[in-house]
Amino acid sequence: MTSPLAVGTYADHAADTPVRPAVLNVLRTAVEVVGNASAAHAAGQAVRTHVEDARDRVASAIGCRPGEIVFTSGGTEADNLAVKGLVWGAAAAASGRGETPHVVTTAVEHPAVLEPIRWLVERGEVDATFVRPGPDGVVAAADVLAAVTDRTVLVSVMAANNIVGAVNDVAAIGAGLVDHPAKFHVDAVQAMHLAVDVAAWNVDALSLSGHKFGGPTGVGCCVLRRGVAVESVLHGGGQDRGVRSGSMPGWLIAAFGVAVEEAVAGRPAEVATIAAVADLVRDAVGALDGVRLLGPTSAEARLPGIVSLALDGVHPDALLFALDGAGGRASVGAACASGATGGNPVLEAMGAEADSGLRLSFGWSSTAADAARVAEVVTDVVPRLRAAGGGFVG
Ligand code: PLP
Repeated sequence: MTSPLAVGTYADHAADTPVRPAVLNVLRTAVEVVGNASAAHAAGQAVRTHVEDARDRVASAIGCRPGEIVFTSGGTEADNLAVKGLVWGAAAAASGRGETPHVVTTAVEHPAVLEPIRWLVERGEVDATFVRPGPDGVVAAADVLAAVTDRTVLVSVMAANNIVGAVNDVAAIGAGLVDHPAKFHVDAVQAMHLAVDVAAWNVDALSLSGHKFGGPTGVGCCVLRRGVAVESVLHGGGQDRGVRSGSMPGWLIAAFGVAVEEAVAGRPAEVATIAAVADLVRDAVGALDGVRLLGPTSAEARLPGIVSLALDGVHPDALLFALDGAGGRASVGAACASGATGGNPVLEAMGAEADSGLRLSFGWSSTAADAARVAEVVTDVVPRLRAAGGGFVG
């Protein structure tokens, strides 16, 4: 297990969050329970009860029916199920019509959405339009809707971006698609600090992942609205509505249910604290020379917990090494200018020019002390690195 020393000053909640105490309680007790949730005997049915209880909790927290939730191993599986499952479901329904189905997505989606779409394109199963964001990372709903054609079978747009925290108006996209046969998928993996609402957003599919809001890693869900044609991605014993085969991890699912419920119920208070923590960091780090804040400037258009920065004069590898050495756990990426190879596709799509991208992200357990410490680490490390040449070789 990770030691407290290794955790250091944790500012990487967009990558993974600590498990909430209530979730830990479920994991501690439930992990000793034996029984396959699909078994008809009492031991299996006892586990099944936890699964169905979690389904109810998640459904009432995010505005859908319990029967519309398919548990997955996390966000990547949920996104793959939504993208491939809905495209193949539409293809099966339209069999024989002979035209290539079309997918609309954005250039700033997580690879868990982009890669399955690119894979389908490479196989000649679909063609796709990748709508670009504005310079702040927000994708305009009008641009997404303008890309939809008669052949479009799927529109997939993230509720909030994982690199810069830009929030997209998915409700406007959902409303604009109500009279179009295309299915609408929303990757809401980073969006639990927003009011996630399957019904109000008019989505056909939505992805969540437990480890982004205080649940365990290895469990998430894909909401698939009733009546939506979907093909399975995993074939086997036909568990979970026949859509997602595989024995259900009852205790992980129970813990996920508690995490969703707690994250949603505690959202207003948590968001206020998280935004205050992030603002302290934004003010301190954003004021440094050669550092620019990325993403939307207005608080309404961004996630409360992500502070995204572009840094001049430091190589991303050297920055990561130096921050980590000083105890600051953050996410460092290449931007798209000098020195860095393989720029971050999100920053590239936004046209952000810098040597390094730095994401400091905060969540339910973050405190003002974390903000002060991480700001101190960045303020100390960046000028020292620059004075030493920035970590560029040659
Ligand atoms: N979608 C987004 C927006 C994400 O940020 C992530 C993870 O960072 C994923 C999908 C993948 O989720 P998971 O790590 O649970 O597979």
